[in-house]
Amino acid sequence: MQVGLFTIDTNLTIVITYVYIFICSTFQIDFWNPDTITQVKPEMRVDFRVEADKSSDVESLLEQRGVEYEILIDNLKTVLDAQFDSNVRATGHNYEKYNNWETIAAWTADIAAQNANLVSRTQIGTTFQGRPIYLLKVIGFNFFLTAIFMDCGFHAREWISPAFCQWFVKEAVSTYGSDTLMTRLLNNLDFYILPVLNIDGYVYTWTNYRMWRKTRSTNSGSSCIGTDPNRNFNAGWCSVGASKRPCDDTYCGSAPESEKETKALADFIRKNLSTIKAYLTIHSYSQMLLFPYSYTYSIPENYAELVKLASLYGTKYTSGSGASTIYPAAGGSDDWAYDQGIKYSFTFELRDTGRYGFALPESQIKPTSEETLIADKYIANYILSYAL
Ligand SMILES: [Zn+2]
Repeated sequence: MQVGLFTIDTNLTIVITYVYIFICSTFQIDFWNPDTITQVKPEMRVDFRVEADKSSDVESLLEQRGVEYEILIDNLKTVLDAQFDSNVRATGHNYEKYNNWETIAAWTADIAAQNANLVSRTQIGTTFQGRPIYLLKVIGFNFFLTAIFMDCGFHAREWISPAFCQWFVKEAVSTYGSDTLMTRLLNNLDFYILPVLNIDGYVYTWTNYRMWRKTRSTNSGSSCIGTDPNRNFNAGWCSVGASKRPCDDTYCGSAPESEKETKALADFIRKNLSTIKAYLTIHSYSQMLLFPYSYTYSIPENYAELVKLASLYGTKYTSGSGASTIYPAAGGSDDWAYDQGIKYSFTFELRDTGRYGFALPESQIKPTSEETLIADKYIANYILSYAL
């Protein structure tokens, strides 16, 4: 049975389970899930977006080939406008709204100033366009010099990801001292939270093009902009599930850590390797909890433990190693962190499973964040209890 999703720019989203390569060569396709045509496997559901004026051609082609499909969003612009469905009418920062970078940047300063006993803000680098990359450190009363690192906003259009990092910090500061588990975690672990890594890309999704994914760096010899930050790490770099073409959405960059953003992140983690015991990186969508490896079908040495940890979490998520659960993809930060010696390395793919995809409504920020917080706390507690 072949199925797929395809999603259309201003006017149409179809979900399909399987797409033929020739569709790609004939039409301009924006892959939503998986990330590229090279990751499409038989029997897989594929979500993609095509421009409105091409949608009927794509539909006829799929029908001719007997591919089952479903149109998920037939007018993406309408759905994107409907994203802002939060009941909160306040201007300025709000945890149940999507906040732009300016607002998030101001929030990082405010939350640190208002919770000076728990939160501090540092800068670990600057983006290609010169924006400061902020890192929040949340810490209670910690003797043990053990840390968990979590980042959000690798891929610009995955707006639910930065929303979750902000939510996590809010929960930490507002439940420290009252929630037993959170208090225990913060008293025994440092949490490093990087609210948005690919800031330039995130800004671009607000100002120019909502569906942008990559960084905004220039590429020599090409007029195409940007590198996929999650293909830019030195873990089987550019060997599989990544592109060497700067115009592609999964472009791996000119070299590992060619991006200022990924270099800053990698430098920070290398410098703090002795304390960082877990690495969590937050993406969307597809509701999965993935662990190494993605660049190879080899299994990590603590595979059984990771399977157990991932499977204990939550209800509607599927989990497993990246390569076997979804598709091989090299150069990801989770594999890289694992190879640095961080044995608890997870990629979260948050909501949803394709109904809205990257256009997830604001009304889902709270439930998504609440379920993800449970997982985060569970993993952190496991590390505290068994892994130190
Ligand atoms: Zn992503």
